[in-house]
Amino acid sequence: MQAAVMFGYNDLRVTEMPVPRPGPDEVLIRVQACAICGTDPKIVAHGWPNNPPFGQYIPGHEYAGTIVALGEGIADYQVGDRVAVEPHKGCGHCENCIRGFYTTCLNYGNLAAGHRHYGFTVNGGYAEYAVNHVNTLHRIPESLSFDEATLITTAGTAQYGITRIGGVRVGETVVVSGPGPIGLMAAQLVKAEGAGRVILTGTRQERLDLGVELRAADITINIKKQDVVKEVFSLTNGVGADLVIECAGTAEAAKDAVEFTRKNGRVALIGIYQGDIPINLNKVVQWNMTLAGGKAEGDWSLRRVLPLLADGRVKAGPLITHRFPLREINQGIKTFVGREGGAIKVVIHP
Ligand SMILES: [Zn+2]
Ligand SMILES: [Zn+2]
Repeated sequence: MQAAVMFGYNDLRVTEMPVPRPGPDEVLIRVQACAICGTDPKIVAHGWPNNPPFGQYIPGHEYAGTIVALGEGIADYQVGDRVAVEPHKGCGHCENCIRGFYTTCLNYGNLAAGHRHYGFTVNGGYAEYAVNHVNTLHRIPESLSFDEATLITTAGTAQYGITRIGGVRVGETVVVSGPGPIGLMAAQLVKAEGAGRVILTGTRQERLDLGVELRAADITINIKKQDVVKEVFSLTNGVGADLVIECAGTAEAAKDAVEFTRKNGRVALIGIYQGDIPINLNKVVQWNMTLAGGKAEGDWSLRRVLPLLADGRVKAGPLITHRFPLREINQGIKTFVGREGGAIKVVIHP
């Protein structure tokens, strides 16, 4: 099969690889589409802890396709089923997995213990075929294309952040910070789940506008032009936002999120942060706030978001701006990283 293989740092090449074989409780998937995630360029540049050896490592973790072969013990799926996958498969027997927290499996990276992180610690979807454990499969509704289905992990990640702070209560004012793919999904999800008002904040006007077009954002704040903290307080009669989903992943955004949240408000942090973040922790205590991190798409969130994607309450299609064949994967990554042509989500077709 053709696959994009890491031969070293910044050395991703499309080459011939053997088709993998499904073991017990696994299926073989003919990959139809694999979306580029924000972590993929980082993996290409720096690798990933416990990644498979160079020369054999196929990244890509947001993929969808058709089941073409079944391993031993698969009773719930058949050849021909259209499925999308989630990247995390916990070991299934550590304390966290047993309690349902498989994205924070205590055996992360331990293949012998049964843990898999597809596209990270084992091979993923930048290939014509991929093998996945049954626990990671989600049947794609008829109404969703393979391209759209690749975004269920993006939606699931946004959903897990929302879940981590107790969900949305009807009528709440929610700020979604960072109009990237996860933020645009989060805005749509909180809207569909009963938010009264959704305020989308960020720096890229076209993406903020897309949030409005998707009927997710009621109000947008361009933080380059407006003082976001002041604006949120003025929009909420000086009270602050009920709920904040921070997806921008910058120090400034995390700091502001805590600043414009109300007394007793809740903040989900689902960006990828670096360095020291100057959060006002005393405010968190004195204002009785809840601050929670959300690791990836836990809580089987993909299954929760599927019905919303299936009937169009949440849309994946408008986020997909570019498509490339597998042999042009490096061009695809370049387009994604440079946000060339307004790129938001870029999908690769093996
Ligand atoms: Zn991802
Ligand atoms: Zn585990």
